[in-house]
Amino acid sequence: MEAKFCSLCGHAMEWRDFDGTMRNACTQCAFVHWGNYSIGVGALVVKDGKLLLVRRAQEPGKGFWTNPGGYIEQLEPIAETIEREVFEESGVRAVVQNIVAVRDQPRSIHNVYIAFSMEYVAGEPKPDGFEVDAAGFFSSQEMEGMNVAGFTRWLADVALHGREPGLAADRKPIVDLPGYGLFRV
Ligand SMILES: [Zn+2]
Repeated sequence: MEAKFCSLCGHAMEWRDFDGTMRNACTQCAFVHWGNYSIGVGALVVKDGKLLLVRRAQEPGKGFWTNPGGYIEQLEPIAETIEREVFEESGVRAVVQNIVAVRDQPRSIHNVYIAFSMEYVAGEPKPDGFEVDAAGFFSSQEMEGMNVAGFTRWLADVALHGREPGLAADRKPIVDLPGYGLFRV
């Protein structure tokens, strides 16, 4: 992608070498167009051996059952984003425990997806009626007969048959690091 003018200061952009990679950069200010990226977050909420799923009411993936999730916001910690998304989509309150899976999709918009195991707190699954039109907890056996998205089937296996607990949220790090969301082994 090439921009003629800087989106920050409006001056002309040029191609410049950054450690061997040509990048579109501003001739006046420090702005560099590093690339196009998006980051998704997904929730794996398990209750009594069943995984929380929602049925997508909109494209992409309309009619498919997936785990709740969404895209991160500029200034919102990712743990808060996924807790909010779970509540908005399904009416269920759950809190982040571990990062249990990561998906990498390098493409025109390079997407990284982070999946969290989450502890169920409260609420009966109830669809928001807009993004999703059905919600519930389902066992592996029940999912076999459902229109579950391929990637969600993979995540369900992680959620229900994971071999390790994953990276745990470190809410009391040994060093004071304000503004950091930390997950560690
Ligand atoms: Zn500029």
